Amino acid sequence: MIPAGFVRLLSQADILSGAKAVADRLRPQIKPGATTFVAVLDGALFFLTDLIQELAMDVKVDFLRVSSYDGGETSGDLKLVSGLMSNVAGADVLLVDDILDSGKTLAFCTDYLKSRGAASVRGVVLLAKERPRLAAIEEPAVGFHIPDRFVIGYGLDWQGRYRHLREIFIKDAEKETPR
Ligand code: 5GP
Ligand code: MG
Repeated sequence: MIPAGFVRLLSQADILSGAKAVADRLRPQIKPGATTFVAVLDGALFFLTDLIQELAMDVKVDFLRVSSYDGGETSGDLKLVSGLMSNVAGADVLLVDDILDSGKTLAFCTDYLKSRGAASVRGVVLLAKERPRLAAIEEPAVGFHIPDRFVIGYGLDWQGRYRHLREIFIKDAEKETPR
């Protein structure tokens, strides 16, 4: 069930071809057995799995979990809820998130990874909202640039729901966004 006021933005085939295109762009810079993909939980789980399966290379995987102090969908000040299991000192890290909005999540996680000694950190997102960023970040590898409206599905939730959807839905331009 899709909540009222949302329309389909990307089909399953669109998402997979986006993941494949990003994988093809990243492939030349991947060092098999050395590059570490760090995904930001919970939302990036689906994109991480499709991305590394499309890549079909031997990469390491780890996870970060962050939450915003204000608990909202857009990030206010962030805190680390769960850190890395592995040692990224000296490693080239690809930091994977579902969506780039203000940029605060990527900025926060990049700082954390660098503080753990990562040699390089490059962002990778499936979706990037077309809006000004509020944090100084290097523009990540992006699957799709999308309008600045709320999206759900494929890992992206609305109050903890709708992550399981295989397609991505966007809030109708006419309606108010649920923030
Ligand atoms: P940023 O820190 O760039 O403002 O926001 C990125 C994080 O906010 C993402 O990891 C995601 O969890 C959440 N987020 C931003 N926009 C949306 C959206 O449209 N839908 C959902 N479900 N989450 C979003
Ligand atoms: Mg997130």
